[in-house]
Amino acid sequence: MLAKGQTITQWMEKLAPKSVAMPDDRIGLQLGSLQRDVSNVLVALDVTDEVVDEAIALGAELIIAHHAIIFRPLKDLQTDTSQGRLYEKLIKHDIAVYISHTNYDIAEGGMNDLMAEALDLRQTKVLWKTGEDKLEKLVVFVPKSHADSVRTAILDTGAGHIGDYSHCSFNVEGEGTFKPLEGTNPFIGSTGTVEQVEEVRIETIIPSSIKSRVLRAMLKAHPYEEAAYDLYPVSLNGKPYGLGRVGKLEQPKPLAEVVELVKERFEVPYVRVVGDLNTSIRKIAVLGGSGGRSVNHTLFHGADVLVAGDIDYHTAHDALVAGLCIIDPGHNAEKIMKKSVAARLQAMAEENGASTVFHASHIATEPFQFM
Ligand SMILES: [Zn+2]
Repeated sequence: MLAKGQTITQWMEKLAPKSVAMPDDRIGLQLGSLQRDVSNVLVALDVTDEVVDEAIALGAELIIAHHAIIFRPLKDLQTDTSQGRLYEKLIKHDIAVYISHTNYDIAEGGMNDLMAEALDLRQTKVLWKTGEDKLEKLVVFVPKSHADSVRTAILDTGAGHIGDYSHCSFNVEGEGTFKPLEGTNPFIGSTGTVEQVEEVRIETIIPSSIKSRVLRAMLKAHPYEEAAYDLYPVSLNGKPYGLGRVGKLEQPKPLAEVVELVKERFEVPYVRVVGDLNTSIRKIAVLGGSGGRSVNHTLFHGADVLVAGDIDYHTAHDALVAGLCIIDPGHNAEKIMKKSVAARLQAMAEENGASTVFHASHIATEPFQFM
């Protein structure tokens, strides 16, 4: 069975919820339609002409990319411009393009976690907090016979996380009453008679970001026609999320060795470096994409080096004055997302019995040559 485009992007949104994206970011479906079966998906960092050719050769109906193909509102669609030709080619070959950008950067297990992992960083934290996942308390009343299955459905969907503990819930037994009214088809009791039922009140905590998913799973498992449940806002601090990560190496290393590590793990031939190569490095801040605005965040966290792309001249000077080292592997270091996203989506397809194949693009989209 082939997965529909819509289903595939729902899987992608599990990996990178749209709700965490930076404001005004260009994400989601940018071109084409998701209302069709998809046999092959190409995962790319950038959608260039060569990447589109690769998608055509693979028979891909969908490209999932990190960087947007439409940045500004289009005023026209002239197909004698290079950008217009690209859109024309995609449309002619019926290939849809879906973008997952800052939401993928920020998401747990997304770009920034991937980069931190590539450098073997431990005890990683968010470098630059952009928001926090608000918490809500969910309370549901379930007949005793179905308490286990409803609880499992709720907790397996990700509710009930407190710190490093999962599946946290509180359960208390009691008696529920109800009278099915005209036109109902009650699971227990009969129309017009007040019923008393032994029920369990299950309560747990859910991050707002997964609320709809949890409620769907709960309602599916609940036997009642009209499940009784409450949601309360909770004024506890939710989990912070954001751009970049900061973490520690197992052992301190001189900057020169960290440079080699960055080159090897991000598969880049050259990096630009700010700082004394003998500086001892223990704490590393890493950020996918442009890192120019993250110097202050890096200093705030007391990191020894910032690993990020697109560092400009004046930012490098600021870092030098502040005693902060920088390694700039280039923006294209983000290419490590291709294999990771393709593999994670492939696993989700297999879990769901779909035969859609996910390919990591082989096209190098580094625009610079190093001479
Ligand atoms: Zn980027």
